[in-house]
Amino acid sequence: MTGTYHIWTIGCQMNEADSRHLASQLEALGFVETRPAMEADIAVLNTCVVRQQPEDKAVAKLTDLGGVKNARRPGMIIALMGCMVGKREAEDLAQQFPFVDVFMAPSQTDVLIDFILQHDAYSHLNRAQLELADYRLPAVNREKAITAFVPVTLGCSHACSYCIIPYRRGPDRSRAPEEILSEVRALAAQGIKEVNLLGQIVDRYGFDLEEGLHLAWLLKEVAKIDGLHRVRFLTSHPAYIDEELIRAVAETEKVCPYFEIPFQAGSDRILESMRRGYTQQEYRDIISNIRKWIPDASINTDVIVGYPGETEEDFMETLKLLEELQLDLVHIAKYSPRPRTLSSKMKDDVPEEEKENRRIRLDELTARINAGKSAELFGQTVEVLVEEFQENKNRWRGRTPHNKLVFFEYNGDCLGQLMNIRIDWTGPFSLIGTWVDSQETSS
Ligand code: SF4
Repeated sequence: MTGTYHIWTIGCQMNEADSRHLASQLEALGFVETRPAMEADIAVLNTCVVRQQPEDKAVAKLTDLGGVKNARRPGMIIALMGCMVGKREAEDLAQQFPFVDVFMAPSQTDVLIDFILQHDAYSHLNRAQLELADYRLPAVNREKAITAFVPVTLGCSHACSYCIIPYRRGPDRSRAPEEILSEVRALAAQGIKEVNLLGQIVDRYGFDLEEGLHLAWLLKEVAKIDGLHRVRFLTSHPAYIDEELIRAVAETEKVCPYFEIPFQAGSDRILESMRRGYTQQEYRDIISNIRKWIPDASINTDVIVGYPGETEEDFMETLKLLEELQLDLVHIAKYSPRPRTLSSKMKDDVPEEEKENRRIRLDELTARINAGKSAELFGQTVEVLVEEFQENKNRWRGRTPHNKLVFFEYNGDCLGQLMNIRIDWTGPFSLIGTWVDSQETSS
C-alpha cells in the first residue's frame, strides 16, 4: 500500500463522476480509501458553489482539515477541487487557505496526480501505473455499484444570468464518442447495470463534433452495450432538446422514459431576465411533444424562487405552470447571488422570508402532485433495478425506469437485478412493494 486517501464530494453528479475517476487513479497508484478525511494521507474536497450553502460546508471542512494538518499531520496532502476553484479564485484561495497543496478546477484530476508523482514521499510511483485507471471503478464501488455517471459534455456556454458554472467549468465541449463507449463497455464489464450520461446541457452533445453525432445517436450506441439494463441522460435544456432525441428515447428500449428539464421560472419576464432562451409556451410545447411520443414519461424539473424582481404575479405563473404540466419532481432553489454573474449586479430584492414562503408553497404543490402520481401506481407491478440493501431496515432499495424510488423485502441477493415489485404503499417521494415472480410490469 502506498498510502491512504479520502475524497469528500458535494454537488452534482458531474462531481460524483470526477471523484470516482480520481479515486480510480489514486487506487491505480496504490492508495487505499480511508475515513475520516483527517486520517488520510491525501484528503480531497470536491466542491460546489452553485449556492452559498455547499460552499460554506466546504469551507468549514477545509478549515477543520487545515487545523489537523497544522497541529499534528504536516505531511498530509490537501487538495481542493471542483467549482470553488477557478483561475482567479485559485490565487485568492491560496492566500486564504495556505495549507492547501493543490487546487484543481472541475475534472482536472491530473493536477493532483502530477503533484503526487513529483512529491519526495512518492518518488517510487510512476505514470505507467495509471494506464488502467481511466476505465476502472474505484474499489469502494467495484463490489456494489450498480449505476455509474459518465460525463459526455463538459462545461457550459449558455451563460444564464444567475449561474456560475460557465465561469468554473469553461465553455461546453463534447467528449469523443469512442472514449465514451470504451468507458461504458468497461463499466458494464465490471458489473454496472445503469449508466447516466451527463452534461450541463447534455442535449448539446456532438455540436462540436463531426456531423450526425447527436445525443440520440449516442444513446442508441450506448444501449447496444451488453450487460447494461438501463441508460439515462441529464440534464436537458429547453432551448436544445429536440424531437430527434425524444424519438430516440421512445424507440430505444434500454433508454429510460425519464427527462430532467429545468424550467426555472414560469414568467416570461423573469425567464428573459435569466437569459434562459425560451418562453413559458415553448416549455409547454416541449412537454406536449414528449408526451405525444412517450405518454407516461417521467419529467423532473428545477425552479428558482425569489429571483431579482420576481413579483407575486410572476411566482403565481410558476405555480400555475407546474399545476398545469403535472411534472414528476421539482428541485426548488431559493435564489442567492453568486459572484461575477450577471444577476449578482441586480438588486436581490425579494426578502428572505418571502423566498422561504414561495419555496414552501411550491414544495406543497409538488408534494401534492407527486402524491397523486404515486397513488396511480398503487396495486401495479413495476420493474425495479435493485441498487442497494439497507441493513438497518432489512430491505432492498431500487428504482423504476421512471426513476421512482421503491423499497421491498426479499430473502436472497438481488443486487443489480431487475425485479418485479407490486406496489402496496405510495407516498409522495417513495413507494413500498412486494416482490412478485414473473408478472407483466407496468412502469
Ligand atoms: S444552462 Fe444555464 S444554469 Fe445550466 S449550467 Fe449552463 S449557464 Fe448554468
